[in-house]
Amino acid sequence: MASVTLENLQKTYPNGFKAIHGVDVDIQDGEFLVLVGPSGCGKSTLLRMIAGLETVTEGKLSIGGKMVNDLEPSQRDIAMVFQNYALYPHMTVYNNMAYGLKIMGLSKQEIDERVKNAAKILELTEEQLTRKPRQLSGGQRQRVAMGRAIVRKPSVFLFDEPLSNLDAKLRVQMRIEIKRLQESLGITSVYVTHDQVEAMTLGHRLMVLNGGNVEQLGTPIELYERPASLFVAGFIGSPAMNMISTKMSSDGKSIEIASDISLALENGGAADYAGKKVILGVRPEHLELSQTDNSLPFTVTLVEHLGADTLIHGHFGEDMTDLTVRVSGTHTVKAGDQLPVTITRDHIHLFDPATEKRISL
Ligand code: ATP
Repeated sequence: MASVTLENLQKTYPNGFKAIHGVDVDIQDGEFLVLVGPSGCGKSTLLRMIAGLETVTEGKLSIGGKMVNDLEPSQRDIAMVFQNYALYPHMTVYNNMAYGLKIMGLSKQEIDERVKNAAKILELTEEQLTRKPRQLSGGQRQRVAMGRAIVRKPSVFLFDEPLSNLDAKLRVQMRIEIKRLQESLGITSVYVTHDQVEAMTLGHRLMVLNGGNVEQLGTPIELYERPASLFVAGFIGSPAMNMISTKMSSDGKSIEIASDISLALENGGAADYAGKKVILGVRPEHLELSQTDNSLPFTVTLVEHLGADTLIHGHFGEDMTDLTVRVSGTHTVKAGDQLPVTITRDHIHLFDPATEKRISL
């Protein structure tokens, strides 16, 4: 086990494209860090740099306190699990897991012990060990890919979207298995995904990347409760946070949500923004269907019944601002209904429309 430290890590591809602009993070021994962000944000590039599959253009990369910038992947004591599993089709499951150990020069007995132990952890039967990968289900293949990583007893696990080839139900199941496995083995892990639910449920911390830059690094709760930017606010949470264009009052102590509806802010507001436009963010689960002095006249356009929850989509105000409200349980509301919706100040987020950064109150 080992810590992994990235100091001002940068990557420019040979064609001149800068994919990573300078990433700093200290991944603790035993920590599970998830790199998350939309397609093209640079998460695979960063993971591949840690693996040694991409060169480091600038900065310092250390594993276990030792700089590894110029070490080959095989010298880094890491094991990687890929999206497409990368299994050898002509080898049995047993040999797929044993192959790397043979190359490492381990004895037959040691290899046998490690493979059987990994198979036990992953609930692969003796019979399945004799099959070829094509004779396994997607979930079982994924387990073999995990097994191949486990047998090496690496200091660091690197996962590149390992669940994206599985169907939705199996994804959830394997997600739980990966979490249990990482917790019981305690191996430092870096995991790439574009799926925010996977990121939130797996990671001790999440690094949200956007265009090769770190938008925010924090625990799932920190990102959910205090997103640092509009980008993070929109990316973390499903359905996404509602964003409403509003104006700060002339004393900076309240925001004007609609012509005759304003909301007093906590801690005396934000004087710097007095009279300026601000973006108000509020999550669907933090809106209330209640009639108050401040409630908005909300017109329902679509209702999604999820069973445990109901999502109510609609709009309010002259410029028909979109809003989604999440209420727990089932609800008889239907398109065309008019409902009062209240925004309370406890769970609101404010963002600067120019910088797109969070405004602290
Ligand atoms: P995805 O989820 O689609 O895999 P990602 O976040 O993992 O995306 P990367 O694969 O790291 O993104 O790519 C980051 C950026 O670098 C993209 O704009 C991509 O086009 C670019 N890129 C990747 N590989 C190369 C390369 N070999 N040469 C030039 N540009 C590259």
